[in-house]
Amino acid sequence: MLGAIEAGGTKFVCAVGDQNGKVADRIQIPTTIPGETIPKVIDFFKPYSMDAIGIGSFGPIDVNRESPTYGHIMSTPKPGWKDYPLVQTLKNAFGVPIGFHTDVNAAALGEATYGAAEGLDSCLYITVGTGIGAGAIVQGQLLQGHSHPEMGHILVKRHPEDPYQGRCPYHGDCLEGLAAGPAIEERWSEKGIHLADREEVWKLEGYYIAQALMQYILILSPKKIILGGGVMNQKQVFPHIYQYLEKFLKDYVPLPELSEYIVSPALGNDAGITGSLLLAHQALTEKSGR
Ligand code: ADP
Ligand code: ZN
Repeated sequence: MLGAIEAGGTKFVCAVGDQNGKVADRIQIPTTIPGETIPKVIDFFKPYSMDAIGIGSFGPIDVNRESPTYGHIMSTPKPGWKDYPLVQTLKNAFGVPIGFHTDVNAAALGEATYGAAEGLDSCLYITVGTGIGAGAIVQGQLLQGHSHPEMGHILVKRHPEDPYQGRCPYHGDCLEGLAAGPAIEERWSEKGIHLADREEVWKLEGYYIAQALMQYILILSPKKIILGGGVMNQKQVFPHIYQYLEKFLKDYVPLPELSEYIVSPALGNDAGITGSLLLAHQALTEKSGR
């Protein structure tokens, strides 16, 4: 039995299941303050005898195993969560091996194992929601270096006719500052979900996402790109992304048919929790030296 936690800024999804991605039980717990949320997480898992737990977490998080703050959530404006020792707390409660990555790396692992990139040793999973983040599998491994990638904060060229200044608290008009859900809402004074029939909204969104994908493609050359998150429910963005990407890349690199190359998650909202079960399994096999 494996435990999985998809730790998000608005909710924690907890599940028990197996390495085939089969979920036996699950619960959603609102993310309030750690003193409220974490006891509920622990209560959910208590009846199960788990062999390992996998966590895909919102970040930034410390994933450097050599670091004294490994397993902590780092700088977050969410009250109470800055410097919170998430891995240590669960380790103390359950005493089992714990796998720990970003939420988007977990989702990339889920999609590469049982979803849209099944069987591929390389893919990119991008979420466009409250923020923008991406996880990557490169040569069969989750991409991680000094820390984890933060691909949502790359710089893009502003559209000459877009007066919006951007809202990233760190960089202003980085990709997330211009194209995440809250930026769409602020620019157009309306939530994305109510802008479905405004073509200019999704064309501009496609313009920014295509620039980001161009850079990811040029740097990582992923075999599949999966675009998830609330904003990507607006499927009309996809054709704009394809058009702009063709325009920007100009056949410089050979790519598969774009509608098969850049796709929605096959696991839907379950990419992250499936990946977290797989992270638990990885932690277990590492521990037993297999
Ligand atoms: P989170 O990023 O917090 O995990 P979501 O991926 O649902 O959650 O992202 C939330 C953001 O996406 C909000 O800014 C919301 O307005 C936007 N959003 C959610 N659903 C839709 C939709 N169907 N169409 C357009 N925007 C959406
Ligand atoms: Zn930024």
